[in-house]
Amino acid sequence: MNRAVYPGSFDPITNGHLDILNRALKVFDEVIVLVADNPDKKSRFSVEERVQMIKDATRDMKGVKVDSTSGLTVDYANKVNAKHLVRGLRTVTDFKYEYKLAEAYHKVDPTIDLVFFMADEEYSSISSSKVDELAKSNKDVKNLVPDSVNKMYQKK
Ligand code: ADP
Repeated sequence: MNRAVYPGSFDPITNGHLDILNRALKVFDEVIVLVADNPDKKSRFSVEERVQMIKDATRDMKGVKVDSTSGLTVDYANKVNAKHLVRGLRTVTDFKYEYKLAEAYHKVDPTIDLVFFMADEEYSSISSSKVDELAKSNKDVKNLVPDSVNKMYQKK
């Protein structure tokens, strides 16, 4: 089984994240979307809410699992026997950040590699924080996020 882990905050998951996930599924048999439970980072949604929204959004997608961890991503990847981590690139700023991240991961475990997918033009300007900013100003975000996220915003 060619398994990869797609780690991130997913606060909340957006159509940009889903696009990366769909493309990763063409390369890997199984992709585990891994929500980072980082209490030091201020988040809009709880880990449980984020996991549930992703589960709802990926229900019909074959080969997707959803989980969370409060530990190191590399440790999680080893636990599930995954040798690749999926990430997405939108901008040069993303590249610089991801390059440092890849370097750090490589130091922790050189057997694990990061695999990057370039953001589709249609989604390259979508970020979780932008979505949240718009939703907080009562702007419609239904074209930027899956239904499960849109519903959660409406509920809040
Ligand atoms: P993190 O806090 O770990 O960066 P995010 O949820 O913000 O978590 O992002 C997870 C990954 O998805 C990152 O590699 C990020 O660059 C990528 N990503 C986020 N939004 C998009 C998008 N619209 N298009 C492509 N990749 C994206």
